[in-house]
Amino acid sequence: MHRLAGAAWLLAGMLALAPAPAGAAETDVATASIPADVSPLVAYSGRIAGDDARTRLILDFDRRPEISVHYVANPYRILIDLPDTVFALKKDEIAARGLFSDIRYGGMAAGKSRIVLTADRPASVVASEVRKEEGGSYRLVVDTAIVTEDAFSKLLNGQTWKDAAAVTETAGGPVLPGAVADDDGSFVIAVDAGHGGIDNGAQGATTGTHEKAVTLAFARELTAALNAGPTTKAVLTRDKDEFLSLSQRVQLARNQGANLLISIHADTLRQKDIRGATVYTISDKASDSLAANLAARENLSDEIAGMPFQDEPAEVADILIDLTRRETQAFSINLANEVVGAFEGEVKLINNPHRHAGFRVLTAPDVPSVLLELGFLSNKDDEQLLLDPAWQKKVAGLIAEAVQRYRSSVMANGG
Ligand SMILES: [Zn+2]
Repeated sequence: MHRLAGAAWLLAGMLALAPAPAGAAETDVATASIPADVSPLVAYSGRIAGDDARTRLILDFDRRPEISVHYVANPYRILIDLPDTVFALKKDEIAARGLFSDIRYGGMAAGKSRIVLTADRPASVVASEVRKEEGGSYRLVVDTAIVTEDAFSKLLNGQTWKDAAAVTETAGGPVLPGAVADDDGSFVIAVDAGHGGIDNGAQGATTGTHEKAVTLAFARELTAALNAGPTTKAVLTRDKDEFLSLSQRVQLARNQGANLLISIHADTLRQKDIRGATVYTISDKASDSLAANLAARENLSDEIAGMPFQDEPAEVADILIDLTRRETQAFSINLANEVVGAFEGEVKLINNPHRHAGFRVLTAPDVPSVLLELGFLSNKDDEQLLLDPAWQKKVAGLIAEAVQRYRSSVMANGG
């Protein structure tokens, strides 16, 4: 179950974006009237948790802090401005981790303090909240997540630099939805080209071509085929040769408001005679040993890049998440069946072409997801097809049709 913990937290974080119930985060009007010469706030404990896609910062204060958030580029930074604050934190209590490579805090100009979160990728605050705790202290919870370059520029260009006091007028509840998708009613499909950067993936039997190049070429074809439809909009999780962790792929899909995630692969097997396409959906228990081995190999991606192991927050026991996940799984299976149906008689399939296993890139509890092994680079015939632009185009077209059929069936059922 450990595998699902991250996904559950992801959904919990998303649910936190919903308006807070009345009274959950009451605004302390009295703060505004406190004279400016009072003693500084004291931040007396802190915590940071999460992974390289979503990171949560928690700070406990003796009094209510009023915060304002700004962004700076080169490198990507999130600035959290506070009134004059004494940071009485232990040395590593909020040390760099998760999506932040550096975290600093301290006094700024007179009466002002700042926390600077530096990230390797564009990132934003997706929710923040100040809660009154029992005993009279106040807890600041700031949730951050990676965003696209585009979304980050919008935040940069849209911000104003009024002083903190002016900005706090709107503070109180969760603020600053950082990961906004364009909502024009389109059905959004995130197309995920497997591997990338330092993680080459598998290698072609005769040409030595890297899987990461095959998946990107195909992902571009598929995106074009999907974008040819009037109401479907496809987005790539990566559009160049770069490394993305598995949870970053899921987060990037969600940032774009994806209704579906399709992860593209073309692996190798020791049995070189095995060939054909396979469609995978997630399951705690693998359907067979081939599926289990492939999932284990795909899940290694993060370790290949030397990503430090992240301890995940405890799983949120929430029946809502459980129900969502079960419904999502049913939708994923629907889509897998549509793709297999579209391939029949057109594209070589392996025996039992719909299989399941514990792929980490398929763990979003609320986005139906499938992983497509287009064929095996260890098989010469498959390799030849995988590298053939005409074949790529044809298969991309079939998948796009399958997605359209999936969408019609979901809409017909009121989904
Ligand atoms: Zn792969």
